[in-house]
Amino acid sequence: MQLVFATNNLNKLKEVQSLIPKHIKLLSLKDIGCFEDLPETQLTIEGNAIQKAEYIKEHYGFDCFADDTGLEIKALNNEPGVYSARYAGEQRDANDNMNQLLRNLEEKAHRIAQFKTVIALHLHGELETFTGICKGEITQTKHGQGGFGYDPIFKAEGYDKTFAEMSLEEKNKIGHRGKAIQKLIDFLMITSR
Ligand code: IMP
Repeated sequence: MQLVFATNNLNKLKEVQSLIPKHIKLLSLKDIGCFEDLPETQLTIEGNAIQKAEYIKEHYGFDCFADDTGLEIKALNNEPGVYSARYAGEQRDANDNMNQLLRNLEEKAHRIAQFKTVIALHLHGELETFTGICKGEITQTKHGQGGFGYDPIFKAEGYDKTFAEMSLEEKNKIGHRGKAIQKLIDFLMITSR
């Protein structure tokens, strides 16, 4: 079975390749000659993941899966959510985004947050979605050098350090993306037997 992972992020591709059953051949966007930016114009994380998976099926004819992630803050009506990458502007800068978030939380009574990843799979003409959530809170200041995005200001429930202070293995075990990927893999193991 061949399956396209609709991402330009080589780290994500490598990570998923190492987890997925060996009889499933994972193709990258480059492998199928796709060098364009995929549309992400929906108002929800689910919507964007589905839009990307459907775009590949429609324009390139491959079964495929796509992911989308957002950070949802309870006291900010679940913002930045689908706008996480460009919360502080189109420069999509992680430090600017974190600073903006810390400013917007200054007056708030609590800092409850969650990361949410949705993976949309287009397989044999059917669409499935898999959701991974990691609950936690936003810290007062940045801690740690690892990871990316909002990792230095996100502390998962039950942990005393931020994602940026964890190893990748540790983060993947409890993280939103790892959980969604595991659900996808469980599904593929059953349907591709
Ligand atoms: P994407 O959908 O995976 O491209 O994620 C959208 C945005 O959410 C990224 O640009 C980051 O700002 C943020 N983000 C996604 N996953 C993570 C994570 O694991 N840690 C921190 N920030 C993340």
